[in-house]
Amino acid sequence: TEPLLKVEGLKKYFPIHSGVFGRVHNYVKAVDDVSFYVNEGETLGIVGESGCGKSTTGRLLMRLLEPTEGNVYFNGQELTAISKEEMRKMRRDIQMVFQDPYASLNPRHTVEKILMEPLNVHNIGNPKDRKAKVYELLETVGLSSYHAKRYPHQFSGGQRQRIGIARALMTNPKLIIADEPVSALDVSIQAQVLNLMQELQQKLKLTYIFIAHDLGVVRHISDRVGVMYLGNMAEMASSEKLYEKPLHPYTQALLSAVPVPDPDFVREQIVVEGDIPSPANPPSGCRFHTRCPFKMDICEKVIPKFAEVEEGHYAACHLYEASRPQ
Ligand code: SF4
Ligand code: MG
Repeated sequence: TEPLLKVEGLKKYFPIHSGVFGRVHNYVKAVDDVSFYVNEGETLGIVGESGCGKSTTGRLLMRLLEPTEGNVYFNGQELTAISKEEMRKMRRDIQMVFQDPYASLNPRHTVEKILMEPLNVHNIGNPKDRKAKVYELLETVGLSSYHAKRYPHQFSGGQRQRIGIARALMTNPKLIIADEPVSALDVSIQAQVLNLMQELQQKLKLTYIFIAHDLGVVRHISDRVGVMYLGNMAEMASSEKLYEKPLHPYTQALLSAVPVPDPDFVREQIVVEGDIPSPANPPSGCRFHTRCPFKMDICEKVIPKFAEVEEGHYAACHLYEASRPQ
């Protein structure tokens, strides 16, 4: 069967203006030729340090940002080819959950009004149905109907994220793009929100793209995980393969920083030196070559192909024949 979402050659270049005439003198290549797919009902984790392009990728999929190049197919439709008006309608089926629920909830609106808004926007149901749906979803996310008349500031961070999740669910979407939904929460609350998201996924048959900055957070929730570095996808595989046998040196480095639950299993330490280079002037060839402990001559010159190195396990690294030019 066809994946629910398919992304091909996605690019987003932001122009950098300078001088009195504001001429474009360079581009930040925030997302540069990224391809992947998401199957219906699964969770794809996308992980990377800040500035790697993971949030931009999420926004491009919803066309909250217009892609510079590339194609996004959702449920058989090409999202990059439809009009803004058609895209607005498509957003019933694709919803986002944001990192900071406080910033994304209007402080002057009651929870009821906040949750009602997506139904108003998409003209779904009559006022009575809408109200019923608000109460139903408050229960679904573990709050109660008496919370409906309260304002965002009257809730804890974890409760606010539950409201953010409820709002995303109001239109019965198929796909939820969650951009660091637990990063702003206390560690003790993170697990509760992750558990809730997993329960909702089963109950409502949701598909998730779960964006995070560290591999630890997405491990248990993700069926597959993609690792981004400086606008590129470095590696993508099932969670099992990615955590047990990472192929890309960058993933290996990220994982050697994550505490390993099994004390008998000693992971080789890989230390990455230096800072992330600027996405306005990314290194030539493999963008990771300035920090990679395995760098070879070819790495500075030739961009490694994001290729299937082992079955279902993709990487972009010259250490693997599939990535090297034929
Ligand atoms: Fe390191 Fe070269 Fe692989 Fe890039 S292509 S990750 S520099 S070995
Ligand atoms: Mg971000």
